[in-house]
Amino acid sequence: MKDFRIGNGYDVHALREGLPMFLCGVQIESHVGFVAHSDGDVAIHALCDALLGCLALGDIGKHFPDSSPRWKGIDSKKLLAAVMTLVKERGWKVGNVDVTIALQQPKLAPYILEMRSTLAGILEVEVDAVSVKATTTEHLGFTGRGEGCQVWATALISR
Ligand code: MG
Repeated sequence: MKDFRIGNGYDVHALREGLPMFLCGVQIESHVGFVAHSDGDVAIHALCDALLGCLALGDIGKHFPDSSPRWKGIDSKKLLAAVMTLVKERGWKVGNVDVTIALQQPKLAPYILEMRSTLAGILEVEVDAVSVKATTTEHLGFTGRGEGCQVWATALISR
């Protein structure tokens, strides 16, 4: 009998003019980007929290504190790879993940496939085990006003 674990993650980053925007490890062409200690990849951060949630290992802030200069400006793909080490060390592998990004603009449709394949490489799964979805919030709330981006992620692991 296989053992399964499920976890969810949520993250928010504020947007500011002139900063780079990375989502799921892919640079997005945009005049605004994320305010952050790392590269601000809010989607990877939510996914890290989903995987950590599977293992009941706390959250990304516990493992990579934003008070530490070690993580300043870090490529979030490295954080996800470090979380994957924790997953694999315990004998688990990723089953599938599902990521929902709420962002008013820009439109993310042209980037979705590259996002999925980038994450699949780090998670060591096929691209069809990685879902990335994007939605606006119909101009409602802080996301709709273009002040920030919210991401929800779910992960399933098995061993
Ligand atoms: Mg974050």
